[in-house]
Amino acid sequence: MCFGINFPEVLLISCYELGHQPFSLASPLRFLRNDGMNASGIDLAVENINDYEEHIKSARLVLVSVRMHNALRLGVAASKRIRALNPQTHICFYGDYAGLNSDYLCKEQYADSTISGEFETTIVELARAVVDDSFQSNVPPLGVSTLHSVAKPVLQRTSFLVPARADLPNIDSYARFRDDKGQLHLAGSTETTRGCKYVCRHCPVTSIYHGKFFVVPEDIVIADIRNQVGQGVRHISFSDPDFLNGPGHAHRVVAAMHSEFPGITFDFTARIPHLLRYEHLLSDMKSAGCAFVISAMETLNDDVLEVLDKGHTKADIIQVIGIMKKAQIPWRPSLLPFTPWATLDDYLDLLNFVRNHDLVQNIDPVQFSLRLLIPPGSELLEHNANAKWLGDLDAANFTYKWSHPDIRMEQLWSQINRAVRKSQNEDIDHSKTFSVIEELAYAMASKTPPFTRIVSQKRPIPAGLTESWFC
Ligand code: SF4
Repeated sequence: MCFGINFPEVLLISCYELGHQPFSLASPLRFLRNDGMNASGIDLAVENINDYEEHIKSARLVLVSVRMHNALRLGVAASKRIRALNPQTHICFYGDYAGLNSDYLCKEQYADSTISGEFETTIVELARAVVDDSFQSNVPPLGVSTLHSVAKPVLQRTSFLVPARADLPNIDSYARFRDDKGQLHLAGSTETTRGCKYVCRHCPVTSIYHGKFFVVPEDIVIADIRNQVGQGVRHISFSDPDFLNGPGHAHRVVAAMHSEFPGITFDFTARIPHLLRYEHLLSDMKSAGCAFVISAMETLNDDVLEVLDKGHTKADIIQVIGIMKKAQIPWRPSLLPFTPWATLDDYLDLLNFVRNHDLVQNIDPVQFSLRLLIPPGSELLEHNANAKWLGDLDAANFTYKWSHPDIRMEQLWSQINRAVRKSQNEDIDHSKTFSVIEELAYAMASKTPPFTRIVSQKRPIPAGLTESWFC
């Protein structure tokens, strides 16, 4: 929302940030303004680019945040519009997916430059160079990639500042937190760490951070939460790739938040090995208002988990289900059921497991349709360079093509994809969608489902956000 500062020289655009008011806009906005720049931001997830034509025409530099695959697709569409409105402006894509796809973005002239990793201070350097006309494509500021100069991701620790949220779209434009009674509440988000200390092979964070992570100081995190609570937020999502990379820091942040705002609930994402290792923290998390936890379960096939280097097994998953039940914190697994290695039997095993462990309502239906993305620079390429299933880079879709050795898995993926989209469009209950998914999967395997059809459950749906979680 660009009120207050009209016709900026630096314009930041966010495309999609999982239904949250975008941290990736608010944080660099603060850095740019502290440096004296006339900067403002728009969020295309909730605003229309057509309402900002004059802002785009005035901008010397347009920065497009693309921290996930979906955002990148939207960012490219935005770039075409920006170029048409203002052919002279410098367009920079920033965020992990900008770094992975820099070559394509610059060659196709969607971007003049890209920045990945810890982007804030490099954005300021770029803005200074563009605004004072000293930018040179062959010798750009450190950390900036162009068609003529390739930079590594920025992995220096940033002196973090409190994000500038005041001029962003109102918090009520975003996804809500739905509590276990079905009541909706305004929801905010923040980050206590950046990057990740693990190196799961399919994860884009690995390709950028290579096992490094950075801690955002507690006072910055709490100030960001305070600003959002001031806007009416009742729930905070900690959007760190893994909240428990720094368990002591996470514990202190939660304690400080709970002490100042005892009524605020929160959620976080943590890998399964972390939930096993830090089980002792969960009762404190629950007491401090933890409403749910997300973990990347991916699949039950231990061989596939090994290929992905996830660091957990099916036995660990079963153990975590018990731990989370004991802690009385709803657990929301995310999935990656369609990979070149997972079989149709694995898919049926997953469905049985979800049903038998009473997880149907804990998993957004879209999770059953998720297919492996292999972006340029993925660690998987190194390990599977000669695999028969691996195809060429589909640069325009930001992923390498791959096809499953079993054609039935390709057909099933198409069918599940359609079914999930239909259920989203028609707002169909999770249980009914799960039944449809089961029928499709068993039909594909030419097997009879060994159960009766699930009907909608009367017990409460576990707490969650109104936005499905996927990248
Ligand atoms: S733990 Fe999560 S964020 Fe970290 S590398 Fe693995 S998948 Fe990525």
